[in-house]
Amino acid sequence: MAELKPCAHCGGDAKFGATNCAHYVTCRNCGVSSVACRERGKAAQFWNTRPPLAEAGDRLAEAMEKARHILQYCPDKQVTAETIMSQALADWRKAKREV
Ligand SMILES: [Zn+2]
Repeated sequence: MAELKPCAHCGGDAKFGATNCAHYVTCRNCGVSSVACRERGKAAQFWNTRPPLAEAGDRLAEAMEKARHILQYCPDKQVTAETIMSQALADWRKAKREV
């Protein structure tokens, strides 16, 4: 059986759950769940690799600040600023999935 890491949001114990056609992982404490997967191992993989939401939020805020600074002082680097924001946003969306 795949080992489950503690909840990325609250540190609570995780457990497997299942419907008649999918497996998922959920936190016993706060109730946040992974995406539903056909395979139990895949659900565990999603759960174990999801970055903590708070950290992702902090990185997003830092990226926005950095991008704002670039746009203010180096307007010719607009592509760099957009790349920074896009990567941080994608990271945050991954963390937020199924919350
Ligand atoms: Zn939790």
